[in-house]
Amino acid sequence: MQRFWAKKIRASAAYVPGEQPRDRRYIKLNTNESPYPPAPAVAAALREFDCSALRLYPDPSQGALRAALAAYHGLEGPTGVFVGNGSDEVLAFAFQAFFDPAAGGDAAPVLTPEPGYGFYPVYARFFDIPLEQIPLAPDFSVALEDYRRRAQGVVLANPNAPTGLALSRAQIRELLEQDRARLLLLDEAYADFAEEDALSLLGDYDNLLIVRTFSKSRALAGMRLGYALGAPELILALERVRDHINSYTVNRLTECLALAALRDEDYFRDCCAKIKATRRRCTRILADAGCALSASSANFLWLRHPRVSAAEAFFALREAGILVRHFAAPPCCRDYLRVTLGSDAEMDAFLSCFLAL
Ligand SMILES: *Cc1c(COP(=O)(O)O)cnc(C)c1O
Repeated sequence: MQRFWAKKIRASAAYVPGEQPRDRRYIKLNTNESPYPPAPAVAAALREFDCSALRLYPDPSQGALRAALAAYHGLEGPTGVFVGNGSDEVLAFAFQAFFDPAAGGDAAPVLTPEPGYGFYPVYARFFDIPLEQIPLAPDFSVALEDYRRRAQGVVLANPNAPTGLALSRAQIRELLEQDRARLLLLDEAYADFAEEDALSLLGDYDNLLIVRTFSKSRALAGMRLGYALGAPELILALERVRDHINSYTVNRLTECLALAALRDEDYFRDCCAKIKATRRRCTRILADAGCALSASSANFLWLRHPRVSAAEAFFALREAGILVRHFAAPPCCRDYLRVTLGSDAEMDAFLSCFLAL
């Protein structure tokens, strides 16, 4: 049936998400979901949700949710907020809104670290955007001087995926200062687990767009909500892309549950604190056992077993019912596993299996 496929679809290699198998019960440490349930306020809002409201389309401008997010982050108003069906969608819109395709020949590249989030090269290929992947240093750090050159944009997850390493706010400021005519698309999917974020830079830099998600720190990966924060002019461009594709990307149920999640700040902080405590504890145990680990600022660890290969450890863990993530490319990732921080009991199961190898 491929004969009906457009050439672009035939030729393109899509992103492969971490597996969600159903053949047995697994301890899932492979897609950076939260081990904790969504906030109790979300469950209450779901129980009280008026199903008849689903008869109507949602608010295409998502005014209430954008206003709530603006207030939550201490921003001036909803014109600086864009919402979408997961941050992957927001990122895909941003690639189309801000980066010119290579066709025509004179488009400068978009710069991004490698390894980084695997979706960026997929978007770039699909939208024909020239992307230049800049290798990380051998210790997986981002060398800022590598970004001091002509480019139409920089795309960066901070903390980075899959390494967990974070640039400081001062380093993000330096990237923004390198070229104030160049957009920095900053993916803060894991910022709630880090010491700092770049929110306070939004007022000073109109070349900064921050993308966030409810999938990780808010335990709502299955709900699909992501958002972007930036200058109103940037937000308008995202709306323009969306309005060429789908006027209603955020559904009424998501809107209602997201508003509830934002009201439960204590629960949110408590979950983030628990995950950070688990991170400290597991990091110490693994380092003491001789594993090489990067200093994670995220809800996952990036580590190398002292004796067995990452591929071997991956399959042994899988046999034991524990799923983690192994990336075969680029070569610097081959020896490492990315392990989501689960509950303490899940991590104990992981540690006893992994360290017995
Ligand atoms: C998980 C993740 C996302 C995707 O989040 P969704 O909101 O679930 O689409 C985006 N960026 C990075 C770096 C991620 O790890």
